[in-house]
Amino acid sequence: MQRNNEHKMCTRCVMDTSDKILKFDENGVCTRCNEFEHRIVKEWNYGKGHEKELKKLLDEIKKSGKGKKYDCILGLSGGLDSSYLLHLAVKEWGLRPFVFHVDAGWNLPVAEKNVKRLCEKLNVDLHIEKMDFEDMRQMQLAFFKTGHAGLDAPQDHAFIAQVDKWSEKLGVKYILNGYNICTEIVANPASWNEGAGPTADKTYIKDVLKKHGGYKTKNYIYTTGFKHKFWLPYVKGVKTVNLLNYVPFTKKEMISTLEKEYGYEAYKQKHFEDLLTKFLEGYWLPTRFGYDIRKAQLSSLVITGQMTREEALEILAKPSLSEEESKELFAIVANKLQISEEELMSYHSLPKKYIKYRNNNWAFQLGIKLYTILGLDKRIRQ
Ligand SMILES: [Zn+2]
Repeated sequence: MQRNNEHKMCTRCVMDTSDKILKFDENGVCTRCNEFEHRIVKEWNYGKGHEKELKKLLDEIKKSGKGKKYDCILGLSGGLDSSYLLHLAVKEWGLRPFVFHVDAGWNLPVAEKNVKRLCEKLNVDLHIEKMDFEDMRQMQLAFFKTGHAGLDAPQDHAFIAQVDKWSEKLGVKYILNGYNICTEIVANPASWNEGAGPTADKTYIKDVLKKHGGYKTKNYIYTTGFKHKFWLPYVKGVKTVNLLNYVPFTKKEMISTLEKEYGYEAYKQKHFEDLLTKFLEGYWLPTRFGYDIRKAQLSSLVITGQMTREEALEILAKPSLSEEESKELFAIVANKLQISEEELMSYHSLPKKYIKYRNNNWAFQLGIKLYTILGLDKRIRQ
């Protein structure tokens, strides 16, 4: 009861005290909104895009790929952002991306259809990286046993490791990333990740496996924080670019363009192209932790002027998944993990006390320090 009394929601967006460290000003406006207004909105050019900078960047990307089969790499999940980015990259900008898709065994058929339709119509070869499902299943089980909220680390890490693998293998210097201010400026609060380690870090992932069952992966490909955050960007000069931030668009426009051009089928909620993510974000996080990921997603749309706060509140008034859908999904997930529903429920009721896991953040930090001493800090600051 006391918790309910303390609940507070921002008066401008729909972020609230489910983020334990969120602060509010005297008008009840949260730090996220204030940061957006004072810093981000100018950088974003009020959503009008950065045409000149985009042209320069596209020229550089094309130049870097001269004589090569590809000039950039794009990981396509089938979600809205990466799909729209692929559309722009190939159709509007004339880039030649190496397109890969990670199939970790949890794809929903609609996502596979979307990925296929886009690649066929755009005439790009799709490289599908099919993961060893026994590896994925065992890893996911270990993460459920951690009790914390960062449960999708095995899939996230697999994706990051593929980006690193292909940029090394192909010698391509540009990674196209679908991150964008328009639909993602309000990120999930860091406080929601309590107990979890850095997703891009092999040491962390392996320590979770070691501490929860001791499974040794057979075919899973890892990357390290050092390689991902330091070696590739600063030594090999691989640049990750968020090109969606250079063009004006709204979420509605993204959907209508993709529907019209490719027969794309939009999902009910962001990340609902994947069965496990749908389960985690639509059921597990709200019911176990009280984290409704839609608050961040809708807040992004509200503060960028694509939706009113009232519309967002109306959506939030209903749960992400109905009771029936949740039940059905619960049974499917337990079945795919090859455990009973009772066992899965036992992880849902674990105490929210987390053990510590090893990670290699120190190596990455040390690397940056060394480079600063060597006078190469200019690149590091980029
Ligand atoms: Zn706010």
